[in-house]
Amino acid sequence: MKIICILSMLALVGTCATPKYTTKIQNLKDSIQLVDSVAVIKYASTITASELKTHLYTFSSDKFEGRKAGEKGHVLAANFLKAYYQNESIESAYGGNNYFQTIPAEFLSNKAKDTDNVLAFIEGSEKPDEIVVISAHLDHLGIEDDGQINYGADDDGSGTVALMEMAQAFKMAKNDGHGPKRSILFLHFTAEELGKKGSEYYTNNPVFPIENTVANLNIDMIGRVDDLHKENKNYIYLIGSDRLSKELHYISEKINDKYFSINLDYKYNVKGESNHYYSRSDHYNFAKKGVPVIFYFNGEHDDYHKPTDTPDKIDYPLLQKRTQLVFATAWQIANQEQRIALDKDNELLK
Ligand SMILES: [Zn+2]
Repeated sequence: MKIICILSMLALVGTCATPKYTTKIQNLKDSIQLVDSVAVIKYASTITASELKTHLYTFSSDKFEGRKAGEKGHVLAANFLKAYYQNESIESAYGGNNYFQTIPAEFLSNKAKDTDNVLAFIEGSEKPDEIVVISAHLDHLGIEDDGQINYGADDDGSGTVALMEMAQAFKMAKNDGHGPKRSILFLHFTAEELGKKGSEYYTNNPVFPIENTVANLNIDMIGRVDDLHKENKNYIYLIGSDRLSKELHYISEKINDKYFSINLDYKYNVKGESNHYYSRSDHYNFAKKGVPVIFYFNGEHDDYHKPTDTPDKIDYPLLQKRTQLVFATAWQIANQEQRIALDKDNELLK
């Protein structure tokens, strides 16, 4: 009898609470006003499969020797990115010619050498102190003992070239008088493969205050299709988008519904999911500091962390579409009137 009472009370609470929460969520969804549709489409369309492919064939070539943090190939890769940004007239986060944040060897594990994050910056026109961080790691696993190079075309060459193309698109928009209202930091992390050390270092030594960091959109592998999606490759896994800011989550969904219709797969976002991807790439260091994140990820494949992760296996039209999704989401976050709210501060959820 006692048990029945408790059960019926729980049921009652459940039925009372559910509609109220649903209403709050609906109000939150309805409050999201997408901005600048014409410009978003115009500049997203400058992100092309052919440019992504050109960049990626260079970035995952022999020359960069698998980009192991601290090694020669990584130094060359970091300088390749610096030269790209300089050529595109996209500034450093520090001003001047310094695009590198050096992580000292003692911050890293044994035997590692000093290594650099690469930071490019587009200053906001109206709220320059508020920063949207778009990130991907530039390092990879280097050369195997038998001399084979780990090319890391998907991991994370795909994210790296996505940043290059997005930065170019935002810069073109700025040149045309449509620059972002908030600032955008394009952050290429080193030492992700050594335990997310580049992002750990950045979030402990941020160039712009963490409390002014509006969101982090992090990309780690978006150029391939995993076994679960062989039949319908129009997908991407999103992880973390609803953890700190449901506004960010519903912005992301609304952008996708309006412009892209990609199947957003939240399989790996389920709390307690055994792969723990939420804590496995660089965004996690932002989330730990209270910054809302979205992690974009295609899932693992047979070439994951092997020398066979090569650029010929990338699906470039798919990489283009996924990059455009991140771009359009970043555009909204950088340009909407109000800074996105953390759930704990969101009046609509109270
Ligand atoms: Zn990775």
